[in-house]
Amino acid sequence: MSAYDAILIGGGPAGSACAARLKRGGMEVLVVDRAHFPRDKPCAGWITPETVARLGLKPEEYARHGRMTPITSFLVSLLGGRPVPVDFGAPVSYAIRRCEFDTFLLKRSGAAVRTGTEVTSIERRDGRWIINGAWEAPVLVGAGGHFCPAARHLGAKPSDEPAVAAQEAEFEMTEEEAARCALPEGWVDLSFARDLDGYGWCVRKGRWLNVGFGTLRHHSLKPLLERYADGLRRRGILPQGRETPMRGHAYLLRSLARRPVFGEGVLLAGDAAGLAYDSSGEGILPAIVSGTLAAEAILAAGLRPERLDGAAYAAALEKELGPRGTGRRGASWLEWLAAPLAFRSADFVRREIIGKRFLRRNGAES
Ligand SMILES: Cc1cc2nc3c(=O)[nH]c(=O)nc-3n(C[C@H](O)[C@H](O)[C@H](O)COP(=O)(O)OP(=O)(O)OC[C@H]3O[C@@H](n4cnc5c(N)ncnc54)[C@H](O)[C@@H]3O)c2cc1C
Repeated sequence: MSAYDAILIGGGPAGSACAARLKRGGMEVLVVDRAHFPRDKPCAGWITPETVARLGLKPEEYARHGRMTPITSFLVSLLGGRPVPVDFGAPVSYAIRRCEFDTFLLKRSGAAVRTGTEVTSIERRDGRWIINGAWEAPVLVGAGGHFCPAARHLGAKPSDEPAVAAQEAEFEMTEEEAARCALPEGWVDLSFARDLDGYGWCVRKGRWLNVGFGTLRHHSLKPLLERYADGLRRRGILPQGRETPMRGHAYLLRSLARRPVFGEGVLLAGDAAGLAYDSSGEGILPAIVSGTLAAEAILAAGLRPERLDGAAYAAALEKELGPRGTGRRGASWLEWLAAPLAFRSADFVRREIIGKRFLRRNGAES
């Protein structure tokens, strides 16, 4: 059996951030992922400048590995309503393709990686974790996303949790389709359900389009997505007559997640811990923050893994990501009534929807 200082389940942003920090701290780490990389992940691929900064990503360096499209502007509507343009005139976010981004980060971590290998067995023996009967380590990090086996080991029951259900497609337009596409490069289209509980997005990444819808109301997902996609076709954004097979996935918003984020010798990070921001569903940054904090906690315990302080890790998460909210995301009846009017105001959309909800600018809007 091969021995490591830590074994990480999952090579997404949480796993690779954790692996990179542990490697820099001098630890021998194994990342096990069931997918073969480059692997895709249902995701719009929107990252905020804070994510770029935390990762120390240099756009020129990243350009050698993948596409990173600056986002400067938004078209925002209530579903079926007229979109309001909001142009910041300079990049306020970026769009990446997850198949490229995750592969780059995992490789950059420098960790030993076992891809194409599903974790099917987790055992704890004499203070050590035995994974798939093949590898052992005193510390385990569960970074395997919403259905992470380490989270299940700690008691998570994904089918009983109030998760966001989302469907998306990412496809490459032909040259002709791209030339005709009414969504210019650098623009993102967002369209909200009337109860403000879910929204659709369309993100352009050169010739690639990513389109999808996410909501807490699972039974509404299909009709909302169809209505949004029909509108995009009418507006000349989605190519007519083009099949865009959708992929589904789920994730927890932080205020609704009730999973324990640690156990004896084990920490959960990213979607496995249910950390996505309530207001937007942004989960890549919380995955990177939590992966890094998990590594800091492991390094702090050093060669005495029994000293791994899960409670201190949970407290550090609260400090970095902010306290959990109350869990209510939808509109009050007053907001429901006011929404059609509010969504006609470019000022409201810029400040309240893009500024506060998506860019997390809670002070004065720049
Ligand atoms: C449709 C959709 C759109 C989204 N859009 C955005 C967005 O635009 N911006 C944003 O910030 N967030 C977005 N999110 C959220 C974001 O995708 C996640 O929060 C983020 O990917 C979490 O990263 P992670 O590393 O925790 O998990 P993941 O990225 O899910 O990685 C988990 C890894 O674990 C592996 N794994 C799982 N089970 C096992 C197993 N048993 N054995 C071995 N390996 C396993 C998987 O193969 C995977 O590679 C979106 C989510 C969805 C569903």
